[in-house]
Amino acid sequence: MNEPYDIAIVGGGITGAGIARDAALRGLRVALFEKSDFGAGTSSKSSKLIHGGLRYLEQGEIGLVFESVSERRVQCQVAPHLVRPLAFLMPIYEGDRVGLELMNIGLWIYDTLALFRTPGLHKTHRGGKAHELEPELKRDGLRGAIEYYDCTTDDARLVLENVLDARACGADCRSHTEVIGVERKRGRVASVRIRDCDSGREAEVAAHSLVVAAGPWTDQVAERLGLATSGRPILRPTKGVHAVFGAEVLPLERAITVISPIDGRVMFAIPWRDRLVLGTTDTDFDGSPDEVWADADDVAYLCESANREFPRAGFSPDKVLSTWAGLRPLIHEEAETASDVSREHQIYVRDDGVLLIAGGKLTTYRLMAKQAVKAAIRWLKDNDSDLFEDRAPVRPHTRTRPLPGAVGLDEPSAAAVRRFAAQLAGECGLEAACADHLADVYGTRSRELCRMMQANPDLAERMQPDLPYLWAEVAFAVERDLARNVDDVLSRRVPLLLVGRDQGLDVAEQTAALVQARVGWTNEQRDRELARYRQTVADTRRFRMKP
Ligand SMILES: Cc1cc2nc3c(=O)[nH]c(=O)nc-3n(C[C@H](O)[C@H](O)[C@H](O)COP(=O)(O)OP(=O)(O)OC[C@H]3O[C@@H](n4cnc5c(N)ncnc54)[C@H](O)[C@@H]3O)c2cc1C
Repeated sequence: MNEPYDIAIVGGGITGAGIARDAALRGLRVALFEKSDFGAGTSSKSSKLIHGGLRYLEQGEIGLVFESVSERRVQCQVAPHLVRPLAFLMPIYEGDRVGLELMNIGLWIYDTLALFRTPGLHKTHRGGKAHELEPELKRDGLRGAIEYYDCTTDDARLVLENVLDARACGADCRSHTEVIGVERKRGRVASVRIRDCDSGREAEVAAHSLVVAAGPWTDQVAERLGLATSGRPILRPTKGVHAVFGAEVLPLERAITVISPIDGRVMFAIPWRDRLVLGTTDTDFDGSPDEVWADADDVAYLCESANREFPRAGFSPDKVLSTWAGLRPLIHEEAETASDVSREHQIYVRDDGVLLIAGGKLTTYRLMAKQAVKAAIRWLKDNDSDLFEDRAPVRPHTRTRPLPGAVGLDEPSAAAVRRFAAQLAGECGLEAACADHLADVYGTRSRELCRMMQANPDLAERMQPDLPYLWAEVAFAVERDLARNVDDVLSRRVPLLLVGRDQGLDVAEQTAALVQARVGWTNEQRDRELARYRQTVADTRRFRMKP
């Protein structure tokens, strides 16, 4: 066995990826194992918001909101291509539980907690002005609206850029690799047993400590690795579903915060990647985290809630382009309804050198990672004083270090990304829409895509006429962005699964051929991977099946 890793991590979602990056930046020897694709778990199933969470303010979680709005600002600076300001409109109607004035005060608190360094201060629009701003809103009883700002992101890519940076700093990050066991010697972690999910090959990897960052799989992993002690589950997962529609169903300039008339929950209508997303639901879930999908009730709830707010839209299940469903890895606590369960995270440090991190939000991943790595270092120092004798850990500077796509921007801001997009269009002869898209997804790494297109002009073609996605992105996904199969490409790198009119089925064979040429599959392997992707698509359509 090679020299042991200081930290081995189970789970390549945003939490594990953030931990791998933080630890690698501190000079630790790190290994990250993800049983599927990086970000394939909850971290590609979120509402894709980097936000303070207005709702948590109402629940009195001031600390969580403060942390979140501070992190929102950090993320806007370290990844301005991926974390972009988004205006939200919250309409207030006669008889609403919280009126316009009280909501205005709430938003002052929200802006104050951000120390007024928000993407934009909130505004109150009274009466008809709200309807002028968003004409699709229901007019009856509209007293006004509050306009405020949060940020939108591409969650799966945020994970990927953390992994890419962790790798650049020396971390060994392996996707499609499952952790199946842990060996202890003298009561301490000595190695982990891993299995390559494609070949089935198993191996032993020496490590001084193990961090379990398995999101909703935490209890399953704890059980498998012999970590469960109390018999009581660590998590109380809740299911959240989103449905994607064509932007023409509900043309919006801003995201709209909707209070569901069915149960009074907050949900959103969000413009995302040229489509309109409705989400989310929040219901207790006790099944397997490997089998989570939107069912007919989830989609009916989303459509019905939105139809009362946007009477002209006519949301219905047959207009749904795609769905995604994920589990919130919430810490188990007694709460009346699923939406009341806290989003705070917890880190458990065991005597044997296993740490578990659970709960939290996409927005606060950097802080969670920092705390987890510090806890691991403390444990390592307390239990092996020689370990850092000849290499003092350094500070990782994750508050200011740009993620890979932000390296080389002339300043860390959204404006700089727009300037970069204009430059890219000129330099590479791209349509403005394509240059904007590439800059928003890959940031300055788009230059590498341009070089690919210059070498092979066929790759400069659009994959589909109504979206600015280019074939070069498929090649890039495999060559640079760690995609291993068709599902990795079309579900997360170029997510036609979510936004394509045919969910990418119309280009799946061509995509498979491009992947095959790069990874050397046999035709049987290619066909197997195509079948796997078709199954992924079918899973997003399960809500159409009769119960
Ligand atoms: C519907 C919904 C909406 C949300 N919206 C937002 C939002 O807008 N903003 C926000 O800040 N937060 C949001 N969240 C919360 C946020 O998405 C999660 O807190 C976060 O993604 C959790 O990341 P994670 O890395 O802990 O878990 P995951 O992303 O689930 O990662 C855990 C990983 O562990 C892997 N794994 C499991 N077992 C093993 C094993 N044995 N070996 C190797 N790998 C293993 C899994 O494959 C998985 O990829 C939302 C959550 C949901 C469900």
